[in-house]
Amino acid sequence: MRRLPILVAALAVSVALSPFPVFATRTVTLPLAVHVEDARRGEVPEWLRRANVYYAPAGVRFQVSHTRPLPAGARHLADNRARHRLARRLVRRAINVFFVDAIVDRWPSRATARAAARVGRRPSGRLGGAHIRKPDRRPKSYVIVLAYPERPGATAVGLAHELGHVLGAPHHADPDNVMSYGPARRGFDASQRRMFRRRAQRLLRAGDVRRVRRSPDR
Ligand SMILES: [Zn+2]
Repeated sequence: MRRLPILVAALAVSVALSPFPVFATRTVTLPLAVHVEDARRGEVPEWLRRANVYYAPAGVRFQVSHTRPLPAGARHLADNRARHRLARRLVRRAINVFFVDAIVDRWPSRATARAAARVGRRPSGRLGGAHIRKPDRRPKSYVIVLAYPERPGATAVGLAHELGHVLGAPHHADPDNVMSYGPARRGFDASQRRMFRRRAQRLLRAGDVRRVRRSPDR
């Protein structure tokens, strides 16, 4: 057993040299069921690639497990009921993301008004995304993201923001934080990153989402 100390020493050196904290050495991959207009399917990999950049420091990554066509009638959400009607399309044991053309918000929630006020804005009556809780489903929520025309970066940050809600994050006061409504959101803070990783692992352990084999970015 003389090799053991050598192994331990080698491991300690490799951990010390790693640019990531020990807990983040192995990426947790979560499955996404994507619902999108057929004509815009080709844009999904770029949206996801950009959103995953925000999650990389947390050791979390999202990967498309299903793609479903979303017809025009389901892409213009005129009210809260329309947001909840999407639930009938849910794919089980994946985080469902609906890319839509409009989310009308005539009666903004207090959380929306607060997040807008922090960056000196008022709710516009339109949302860039929504997080819909469904406590009786697994997982317990799904997200809706506005697919901005010609603005993949805006779509991606909207996606990252809504996925942050799925992984337990509320809104954040710092306008640079992805969980704010700031105009130039850059990333997550350390406590958010720790929580994301914990929640991602919990989703997998509980069987709320299926395990996906990691594939090249698609
Ligand atoms: Zn939000």
